[in-house]
Amino acid sequence: MNVDLLWEKSLAEIKTQVNSMIYETWFKPIRLYKIEDHLATIIVPQKIHQKHIEETYNDFLKGILSKVTNNFYDIELILESEIKEEKQNNPIILNEPHELKTYKHSSNLNKKYLFENFVIGDSNRLAAATAMAVAKSPGESYNPLFIYGSSGLGKTHLMHAIGNYIEENSNKKVLYISSKEFIDDFTRISRKDDNNLTNYDYAEYFQNKYRQVDVLIIDDIQFMTTTPKTQDEFFHTFNILHDEKKQIIISSDRSPNDLNKLEERLKTRFCWGVMVDIFPPEQSLRKNIIIKKLDALKISVEMKEEVIDYIAANLTSDVRSLEGAINRLMSYSLMMGYSEINLPIAVDALKNMINKGTSEITDIQKIQKVVADQFQISVDDLKSKKRSASIAFPRQIAMYLSRIILNESFERIGLEFGGKDHSTVMHSCDKIKAEMDSNPKLRNTIEQIKENIP
Ligand code: ADP
Ligand code: MG
Repeated sequence: MNVDLLWEKSLAEIKTQVNSMIYETWFKPIRLYKIEDHLATIIVPQKIHQKHIEETYNDFLKGILSKVTNNFYDIELILESEIKEEKQNNPIILNEPHELKTYKHSSNLNKKYLFENFVIGDSNRLAAATAMAVAKSPGESYNPLFIYGSSGLGKTHLMHAIGNYIEENSNKKVLYISSKEFIDDFTRISRKDDNNLTNYDYAEYFQNKYRQVDVLIIDDIQFMTTTPKTQDEFFHTFNILHDEKKQIIISSDRSPNDLNKLEERLKTRFCWGVMVDIFPPEQSLRKNIIIKKLDALKISVEMKEEVIDYIAANLTSDVRSLEGAINRLMSYSLMMGYSEINLPIAVDALKNMINKGTSEITDIQKIQKVVADQFQISVDDLKSKKRSASIAFPRQIAMYLSRIILNESFERIGLEFGGKDHSTVMHSCDKIKAEMDSNPKLRNTIEQIKENIP
């Protein structure tokens, strides 16, 4: 992403989080100048911006940039005049026409994706363990390693973790490549004249780049919808590397057999080594990931446990959306000056991501209140672990009503009832439903409760 586009996205995000006066005063006049290593340099028009933004919006801006880039940056605010001087000192070097001829290796690894910050649960345990095994002895047993699963589950993270681990612990040459860059390179090799390079030059570049690595990591191979000629080149490269016991790691959003656009012989190759799939995170993993990510952010805003439960219960499909929610909550609280995030704040901040809104929470609580009153017990009893019939029965009714009236997920209901397992809730709902069929008295009671719910 180039700097302008990145800033455009950041501004769009900022706009959703601050009121228009603040936006116009403090954010519209500033712009991102460059972003590299761990520093984002932002140009401001006047000293007052420098001062005020630094004092008030520093963490907020960090949150925004981290959301847009998935990376963490410190912020440097400079005046236009300061930058001109810098330019004179460092003239921009234009790309030489023959830049491709001399290939300079770079692994493309993102240092922030490590095994240490990959949280493990049942849904990704096998994938993580296999990735670790490959990292420890690349090219030896699991070759190629094929990781697949839907988007946002940690495939890219694991692949970088392998690469980083290998770079750290050996002097093997690693190359991480997106399938887009990979295809570009493969396509160019067969083109007559590219950027003043002859075919020969490019072939050399290509060979340097791909055939001299010890570990080749190719991400999102499902986008490899290329010509037979390109696939031919790839097949060739694959074989050479594989023969030399160079480790190949591939990821995809589906299994090799479901890669329709890929030639049979390539699919066969992918199945030679080991294939692992990675599944959507289970509830406990989601919670652990949230906790770990909050830790890593090192922002001094406390998030209540109920908020962690709320996110974990509602964003169930992938890890990326969990991260999005955390970033959003953090920026939001920094912006609003909250030092603690409770459930109402979270519901409000995440209303675009979790589109059930506030009413849902009060609604389950309303149902609990009405049911508790009806049976002359307390709401706390309903949420307790007590099993006596005088409490368990009303609890089951309240769960049932939350389900049929609010169409709430079993997990969410479980949470609202003191952290019961979703299967307990499911069982309760089934039980009440079945009993209502055979017991008109119960049916009446429940109708009556329904009428009392505001
Ligand atoms: P994929 O490549 O499968 O689409 P990514 O590897 O890009 O997914 O993961 C999306 C985001 O979620 C990344 O920021 C990644 O660090 C994070 N993530 C995924 N799984 C985990 C995990 N188990 N522990 C910590 N972070 C994770
Ligand atoms: Mg990915």
